[in-house]
Amino acid sequence: MRYAIFSDIHSNLEALEAVFNAYRLEAIDEYCSVGDIVGYAANPNECIEKIKDSVNISVAGNHDWASVGLFSLDYFNPEAKEAIIWSENNLQGINRPYLESLELTYQTKDFTLVHGTLGKPNSFDYLDNQDIALETFALMKTRICFVGHTHIHGILAMDKEGNVGYFKRDYFKIEEDYKYIINVGSIGQPRDGDPRAVYCVYDKDKGEIFIKRTDYDVEKTRKKVIAAGLPKFLGERLLIGR
Ligand code: ZN
Repeated sequence: MRYAIFSDIHSNLEALEAVFNAYRLEAIDEYCSVGDIVGYAANPNECIEKIKDSVNISVAGNHDWASVGLFSLDYFNPEAKEAIIWSENNLQGINRPYLESLELTYQTKDFTLVHGTLGKPNSFDYLDNQDIALETFALMKTRICFVGHTHIHGILAMDKEGNVGYFKRDYFKIEEDYKYIINVGSIGQPRDGDPRAVYCVYDKDKGEIFIKRTDYDVEKTRKKVIAAGLPKFLGERLLIGR
């Protein structure tokens, strides 16, 4: 079984199309979205429609829920808030009910998906420190949990004694006796200084995790952000991957 697992598209259609083209070469069996399909860029409807058509498993991000009134706008900075309000005003047809239907977590027998943390999935905390990571490890009923939200990919591995290591690698081999939290980074707004879209492939049978990147037409996305009347900064940041 080969899974495509990705997060934080943020209405960036050019990045999403580039990643899906790359996935076509990967013999993927199932597609999984870890949240934030919308917010920030200018193509919420097109991105939702692509996800609805091709994704088997899809969980909610804070921007998805905030765009349909399920999560407070108070938690967002001014640019993010403006983009969420813009998204909400531009959602068409059944795309709004689709976002409303997204659950916070999803568990298969192989892995769990959650946008932020398992501790409080509905408060969308960042899984970015030892305590919050330990809490999620303790709540995991599967060996692997995939997360998104920070837009920074990386792998946390916990051994049987509870020691946690952090690894920023493109390839990782899953081993017995370890549990893993894998942040799959962001398709539509990477924040590690590299503008290329990030996506993950999980080969369950071989126990292998791949983090991959692809170029896309960043300039086209930036121009669309500005043409839509969204904050200019949301277009500019894509050029530098911050
Ligand atoms: Zn996000």
